[in-house]
Amino acid sequence: MDSMTKGPLPRYRQILEGEAEARYLLTKRTTVDVDLKQDAESLWQVHDSVTSEEEPTGKTSLLDLKVELSKRMLKDCTFCERVCHVDRSSGHAGHCGVLEPMVSSEFLHMGEEPELIPSHTIFLSGCTFDCVYCQNHDISTNPLSGMAIPPELLSRRIEQMASVNGNALRPARAHARSVNVNWVGGDPTSSLPFILETLSKCETNLPQIWNSNMYLTEQAMRLLDGVVDVYLTDFKYGNDGCAKRLSNVDGYMSAIKRNHLLARSQAEMIVRHLVLPSHIECCTRPGLTWIAENLERVKVNVMGQYRPAHKAGRFDEISCPLSMSEYRTAIEIARGLGLDLCD
Ligand code: SF4
Repeated sequence: MDSMTKGPLPRYRQILEGEAEARYLLTKRTTVDVDLKQDAESLWQVHDSVTSEEEPTGKTSLLDLKVELSKRMLKDCTFCERVCHVDRSSGHAGHCGVLEPMVSSEFLHMGEEPELIPSHTIFLSGCTFDCVYCQNHDISTNPLSGMAIPPELLSRRIEQMASVNGNALRPARAHARSVNVNWVGGDPTSSLPFILETLSKCETNLPQIWNSNMYLTEQAMRLLDGVVDVYLTDFKYGNDGCAKRLSNVDGYMSAIKRNHLLARSQAEMIVRHLVLPSHIECCTRPGLTWIAENLERVKVNVMGQYRPAHKAGRFDEISCPLSMSEYRTAIEIARGLGLDLCD
């Protein structure tokens, strides 16, 4: 039976139990016949023609090929749909402002969805969105907040966290205590080369969570294929107008729909929707309806914890907390659509 059909996040659970391998390890072991000095177009051709099921064909790890491709993309940055085309490798910042990735904090998070805790959450500064109500605006709007940690050091920290929390133990013990790695921000998209390089130096069987606004380009999504085990996504809006007004992004719906479909084809998934006051009919209902009609076998977290933060006070309808009646309406819509809701 396809492991995807056995309930929520079955493959993720298998990784925690030592019965399956994290995708980044499979990708690391997959080898390709390629010279990493080749032009980017040739590297992409090799990258896109390989699958992790193939027999090894060369001496270069597919994960190292992804690292190299991400470094090439950094020179003409198109990791997200803002497509700034700046050379971040030589100190030119794009819209997100991220140059050297900064880790603002990393710790064992117990506040994520029950399926995902405990979670070794790594907060990277900077964001590709400008949400006026951002709860993490101290790090999302300041790409310099935190510390630059070399990939070698962060990989050791990840392995250390896994070892004290059970992933390195025998499967029977690992079940209760083992952790995942949860890449978040701000948004992790701007720091993709750093994340891939860090993983290329890890060896432990740790599921990788991509916790993101999902405003990546299709090319960036291709780099995540074979690396991410669970996408933990935000489906924020139900139309482009609200996305532009509250997060200053263009082309939201087409990018987010495409990436959710890609993510579902690559890995397991939990979709989050933060209910905004007075955005039930324009955002919650159409957003949840699209999820119900297009994403099979995903868990959905309809979140009711909205509180006005950052610049939300300047926008009348979101300058107050979410009312209980609006949250109930959102849950009724989700239930009516037959969505599989998180507890
Ligand atoms: S990650 Fe996005 S916002 Fe940042 S420089 Fe690249 S394209 Fe621009």
